Amino acid sequence: MNYSSTFIPTLREVPADAVIASHRLMFRAGMLRKLANGLFAYLPLGFRSFRKVERIIREEMDAIGALEIKPTVVVPGEIWKESGRWDAMGDEMLRAKNRLGGDFVISPTAEEAFTAIVRDELSSYRQLPLTLYQINTKYRDEIRPRYGVMRGREFVMKDAYSWNRDEESLDKVYRAMGGAYRRIFKRCGLTVISVKADSGAMGGSGSEEFMVESEIGDNTLILCKCCDYAANVEKAGCKPDFSPRPSPGFAGSAAAETPPYEKIDTPEVKTIEELCAFIKNSDGSSAGTREFIKTLIYRALNVEIDLSAAPGCAKLERKNPAGEAPQSKGAAVYPEAFFAVAIRGDLDVNEVKLAAALKAGEVGLASDSDVVRLTGAPVGFAGPVGLVSLPVILDHSVTGMSDAITGALAKDLHYRHVAYGRDFEGWMIEDLRTVKAGDRCPLCGGELYEKKGNELGHIFKLGYKYTRSMNVSYLDENGKTCIPTMGSYGIGLDRTLASVIEEHHDDSGIVWPVSLAPYHVIIIPVKYDGAAKAASDKLTAELERAGIEVLLDDRGERPGVKFNDADLLGIPWRVVIGDKGLSQSSPQVELKRRSEKENRMIALDKAAAELAGKIKEELAELDG
Ligand code: ATP
Ligand code: MG
Repeated sequence: MNYSSTFIPTLREVPADAVIASHRLMFRAGMLRKLANGLFAYLPLGFRSFRKVERIIREEMDAIGALEIKPTVVVPGEIWKESGRWDAMGDEMLRAKNRLGGDFVISPTAEEAFTAIVRDELSSYRQLPLTLYQINTKYRDEIRPRYGVMRGREFVMKDAYSWNRDEESLDKVYRAMGGAYRRIFKRCGLTVISVKADSGAMGGSGSEEFMVESEIGDNTLILCKCCDYAANVEKAGCKPDFSPRPSPGFAGSAAAETPPYEKIDTPEVKTIEELCAFIKNSDGSSAGTREFIKTLIYRALNVEIDLSAAPGCAKLERKNPAGEAPQSKGAAVYPEAFFAVAIRGDLDVNEVKLAAALKAGEVGLASDSDVVRLTGAPVGFAGPVGLVSLPVILDHSVTGMSDAITGALAKDLHYRHVAYGRDFEGWMIEDLRTVKAGDRCPLCGGELYEKKGNELGHIFKLGYKYTRSMNVSYLDENGKTCIPTMGSYGIGLDRTLASVIEEHHDDSGIVWPVSLAPYHVIIIPVKYDGAAKAASDKLTAELERAGIEVLLDDRGERPGVKFNDADLLGIPWRVVIGDKGLSQSSPQVELKRRSEKENRMIALDKAAAELAGKIKEELAELDG
């Protein structure tokens, strides 16, 4: 391709909102332009690299037996109502009405569409397992699109879905997907960290996120200094830093030495910090936050766990996702329920873990008026002792406390000498703390540390969430009606491409891995005429015949300008052809790798074979 015939509008200026390298470089190299906030157009150079990401993903999906289909981007709102996500998705989902007043959705993801397609065709166990995928446009009305295509509103995702007879078959697909993802990222030249993740609003268990390290990452990763434990902070666990003892056996041991609990007046003190300063130990020192039991009241929506025997929940109403009275236990949810969560004073509740424990769609702190109604005291005085109006959930840390201070369910009053197992119990005991750097690895006890990361891909086992709510079934070999289990597997193409640039650039521009480079070679004649023109045209033709993609810089620009552009565009190999080299007894051209400083002269007549050989070797190495 001749440079002058393509459309590569490079920029000297950096767009004002471009704060990360990939955003700056995609604009400066003429790969991308912005149409509106979160909406980007790929120009020819950018689209070439984008298509290469797409090709790699497609090859790896095909290789594990996933079948590509092309559903629509605009889908009927009906199927989202069936799954219950018409309401659950909130404002991130863009909705539209057609001229007849029908509800439509611009797909933010496609569990519903794929499930609707499969349910009509699935009849026999012989059709399973089935894995379908698409590489298609998604729209999410992100509240704050940023960092260019890293977080756009419209983007392209490869999303795959599998239907399986049982857990074992699902696990097989899940693991094959994990393997395919690792190969995809390797072929793109990316270093990824795979972490156990929470499966969020999608539901189900078994989930892995593929992250790249990034200063601007939206995710916090918890990693171990001693072993390969890696988890999203949303799900990270840690070794308890106390010895948990099962209740009520605990009451007989450490608590035996604790005096009976008693009330203390704590006028005008509300926060844990104020309390610490206020309450003095017998030696006159202030109490530490670790001596407190912090009790928070949470409101949870769409709770799936059974609350029929939970304190204060006997009269709670239960509905199925379509808002009707429940037919089967599994599909029904409590639209709203309240819980008290008790945790050691120096720790924070991880709301994602809490939501997962309750199988809730959403959890958040209850309003002040709800706190007063449920605990009989203003905010700041809740505690687990004598709390019967709602279920009390204990974090593991509380089960290690035998002489604690806690709210006394009355204004300006606390209890001290409170012992777990003696003075209170929990309705549920769970690991709910937010893990921090410095905590201990749950696997090996080593020290944990934090890194920021960006999610490129996500695989998870959905279970029966969609197949149940959308009535998918098949007949097994005995003619029995069965419901398949599902998995869902996504990769963002735009974010992957931007992340490659984040990992592969320098001060002068992009340094493409050969697998994604828009062209493998850029040929720069010092001047595009005479012998240099003839040699450039000939080398281009030879390389192209060998399957190598060449950009021939035929512009009438000064060599310095062409060199700078070549560096900015990041083409892996540069060949400079000038009269001086050509006039030697055996004509020479200058060869330089974008990633290296040095260049060297090679014989013109060997250049095509040598370059083609090297490029194919590099490609094979990335693919291998
Ligand atoms: P995030 O937490 O970053 O919003 P997500 O958990 O919402 O991601 P998924 O629903 O798992 O993402 O989507 C799968 C993939 O789609 C992500 O791993 C990411 O690569 C890509 N993706 C999601 N949202 C965007 C976006 N706004 N812009 C670009 N890519 C996106
Ligand atoms: Mg998101």
